[in-house]
Amino acid sequence: MIATLHTQLTTGELKVKDLVDSCLKVLKEKDLNVHSILGEYSAEYIESQVVRAQEMIDSGEVQMMTGIPIIVKDNICVTGEVASAGSRMLEHYVAPYDAHVIEELKRSGAVLIARANMDEFAMGSSTENSAYGVTKNPIDTTRVAGGSSGGSAAAVALGIAPVSLGTDTGGSIRQPASFCGLYGLKPTYGRVSRYGAMAMGSSLDQIGPIATTLEDLKIVYDVIATRDVRDATSLTTEERNAHIPLKKRIGVPKSFVEQDGVDSEVKKNFYESLDKLKNEGYEIVDIEIPYVEKSLAAYYIIMPAEVSSNMGRYDGVRYGLHEAGSTINESFVLSRSKGLGEEVQRRILIGTYVLSSGYYDAYYNKAVALKDLLKREFVKVFETIDAIATPTSPIPAFKIGEKSDPLAMYLADIFTVPANIVGVPAITIPSGKTESGLPLGLQLMGPWTAEENLFTIAKSV
Ligand code: GLN
Repeated sequence: MIATLHTQLTTGELKVKDLVDSCLKVLKEKDLNVHSILGEYSAEYIESQVVRAQEMIDSGEVQMMTGIPIIVKDNICVTGEVASAGSRMLEHYVAPYDAHVIEELKRSGAVLIARANMDEFAMGSSTENSAYGVTKNPIDTTRVAGGSSGGSAAAVALGIAPVSLGTDTGGSIRQPASFCGLYGLKPTYGRVSRYGAMAMGSSLDQIGPIATTLEDLKIVYDVIATRDVRDATSLTTEERNAHIPLKKRIGVPKSFVEQDGVDSEVKKNFYESLDKLKNEGYEIVDIEIPYVEKSLAAYYIIMPAEVSSNMGRYDGVRYGLHEAGSTINESFVLSRSKGLGEEVQRRILIGTYVLSSGYYDAYYNKAVALKDLLKREFVKVFETIDAIATPTSPIPAFKIGEKSDPLAMYLADIFTVPANIVGVPAITIPSGKTESGLPLGLQLMGPWTAEENLFTIAKSV
């Protein structure tokens, strides 16, 4: 889709302004009921980007993303614009600087048009935790669009823009992309700079693209996946350029995929996707990944531990909402209880608990030890295969309000969290639909820095 628009823009058949206006028109017409967007960027800001992109095109210094509209998840900072992270705490917060990915997109001439709805501070799997109301699934509006980047996925599915940015700490790009029938990529940890993305679980977070086609996914990825010294975990140039030869072998952790709670239509569709890979000459092999089924438990200890410390900055003094009390301590309590929603508070409490004296060894240290063990197991597994295949989600998009128990919601993340725990790249590929028409996704996890291989394999599917 971007390639076609690019041709139209460079031949002069289409002007940037007309393209952006048509996207904003779709937003106005189609988003009322879906609520994928929290707000458009300011008219002056959009206008200045349009002018700059058109100048780039007219002067011939054009790149693939020049003039292409893009939607940004609301936890990524854009200078002078609101970034609320789906929270009351940051309702009026105006970002004073650009995230690294935004600098790169600006350089490319992309046009940022709107802020996508999300679960508050990216905590959730359904966008129901947004302080501004749920995002509905455009394919069936009685169902969730997924989360936490539900707005980023639904906006692209609605056709408001060809591509969007999401963030993924435990599946938040891949799961909503699969619920909305789209492609989504969580890059290798360190591939995309986290500078300017609001931290949730710092050892797990990655920014990545969501798109309707694989080509578009890669175009955005190529723009944002650059080294940045402001993120201490940014991969080095050597690591970035590592070439990992393809073996044409895909591993399937059968017992993991076959566990209780995985929908039968999801399983059927998964095996059909594997057949497609087989027809493209890939050998499908059974693998065991010891302890992988424990990833979810480790995730729901490590992530809240990091959340509890990252959320400390929202004290009502330095950022956002302030509610005055008679003492400084009372002000903290009032600001935080008014500014932060239930799920965020729950995770701060769990995180503080697992890090407190006496429980640190029993929970946090064990989870970290498991993370190290899993990394070693993944290294071994990847010696003989190119990618690990699983469904992206154990269930298709569920009904709004259906998962009121937090634990039931957490279980929706079983297939996506391992990639964050070990830091490997993972892609979701639309793989068909259920009988009732709900989209399904195939997930491929590759070895560290093997994004290019994932693109190659995805193309065969
Ligand atoms: N659904 C997961 C959670 O609630 C993942 C969130 C994310 O990736 N940001 O933590």
